[in-house]
Amino acid sequence: MASKSQHNTPKVKSPNGKAGSQGQWGRAWEVDWFSLASIIFLLLFAPFIVYYFIMACDQYSCSLTAPVLDIATGHASLADIWSKTPPVTAKAAQLYALWVSFQVLLYSCLPDFCHRFLPGYVGGVQEGAITPAGVVNKYEVNGLQAWLITHILWFVNAYLLSWFSPTIIFDNWIPLLWCANILGYAVSTFAMIKGYLFPTSAEDCKFTGNFFYNYMMGIEFNPRIGKWFDFKLFFNGRPGIVAWTLINLSFAAKQQELYGHVTNSMILVNVLQAIYVLDFFWNETWYLKTIDICHDHFGWYLGWGDCVWLPYLYTLQGLYLVYHPVQLSTPNALGILLLGLVGYYIFRMTNHQKDLFRRTDGRCLIWGKKPKAIECSYTSADGLKHHSKLLVSGFWGVARHFNYTGDLMGSLAYCLACGGGHLLPYFYIIYMTILLIHRCLRDEHRCANKYGRDWERYTAAVPYRLLPGIF
Ligand code: NDP
Repeated sequence: MASKSQHNTPKVKSPNGKAGSQGQWGRAWEVDWFSLASIIFLLLFAPFIVYYFIMACDQYSCSLTAPVLDIATGHASLADIWSKTPPVTAKAAQLYALWVSFQVLLYSCLPDFCHRFLPGYVGGVQEGAITPAGVVNKYEVNGLQAWLITHILWFVNAYLLSWFSPTIIFDNWIPLLWCANILGYAVSTFAMIKGYLFPTSAEDCKFTGNFFYNYMMGIEFNPRIGKWFDFKLFFNGRPGIVAWTLINLSFAAKQQELYGHVTNSMILVNVLQAIYVLDFFWNETWYLKTIDICHDHFGWYLGWGDCVWLPYLYTLQGLYLVYHPVQLSTPNALGILLLGLVGYYIFRMTNHQKDLFRRTDGRCLIWGKKPKAIECSYTSADGLKHHSKLLVSGFWGVARHFNYTGDLMGSLAYCLACGGGHLLPYFYIIYMTILLIHRCLRDEHRCANKYGRDWERYTAAVPYRLLPGIF
């Protein structure tokens, strides 16, 4: 499973929080008060935020202010709202269990065959990035295959077999929310216990001595069950991201059922988000080198976030359009489509340029020229010195995180498709802006620790993060 450059066993922090000497470029060892306060806030309120949005759609036609006003003016109490909320049902529990089991089956038992016949697709057994302890994990990359099989079955059901209604996800949306929460909390708690009792790679565990931080940000770097079941790869991609497009299809089916047609805004949201999801699975091997997989530990942030936050809040536009079927004028629809496609192009090309540059060790062409780079070095926990390069050509010379800028343009397009009637569908762009700015700062802090003065040379060469001249 994991090959290892194990010359010296690194000293690590023990569960009681005593200091060791592992490399400093993974997630934090020490917890400052601001991080702790944010974590406790999120642990307490994130589940309620999700509930509030979904309840606002169900009971108040997606108005975010109406529930508060109703309570403030005495027209409703918290108990009234809660009593109108559908509880978990046996049907939802069965559906959810079936869904997760099916995705586990596709992930664990079906080695990838897509890479055998799809030109340019990289799947099958692939290596991840080197961890702070010097481990290189192997992954079975078969997400595209899981996505294709799941969606083929969905369409076969919808148009041929009619085992269940394609509106099934919408019809059970709140009961399914409780199931997703149960899984999210169960997997995060299990990962925490596993980190203490039977970690997959003890050298890559981090214990801050703070229970809440450990629970939220995770202890284990790459928790696994058996040789191949990798928690991060499974929960990041499936069940949440495979479900994303199915959820949107179910919302479109509900529009059809309620109004007799599907609006162009719903088609736009379905198409733009499907491109993003398909891109994710087409590039799953590349994804092994992104922050989620190669820097973050597995805790509640990823476990609960992937089970609940992602499928429920990333799909708010489709849900909103069920309640408010917006039909855009052709120029507006085309403008939004263009914004989404240009954003996607920037996002993809920026990521592609870095991937190509790193894979070929700079022996490639970027925008038709040999790329410029900054040579840098870092030390892993086993004391080995490694060399790397930071690209300063192409989009990486425009800004240090231009991939995030493209992502934000795409996110804005999904929201604009919903028109200007309500704030709720704009949650996504607000959230993504906060997430990606925070990610810039987090990543740059890590890179500064990892590369030291070489990172300073890079920030001097490319001074802006997201938008040249602005930020
Ligand atoms: P990046 O793919 O930008 O990876 C950042 C890492 O790249 C750094 O830690 C560093 O790692 C390396 N790096 C930084 N600068 C350079 C450079 N100039 N040349 C070469 N390597 C460099 O970040 P993410 O993993 O956060 O994002 C990947 C994609 O996923 C983005 O497009 C983002 O928009 C998207 N995303 C989407 C989310 C969503 O919820 N929809 C959430 C998060 C991300 P190293 O240590 O290897 O040097």
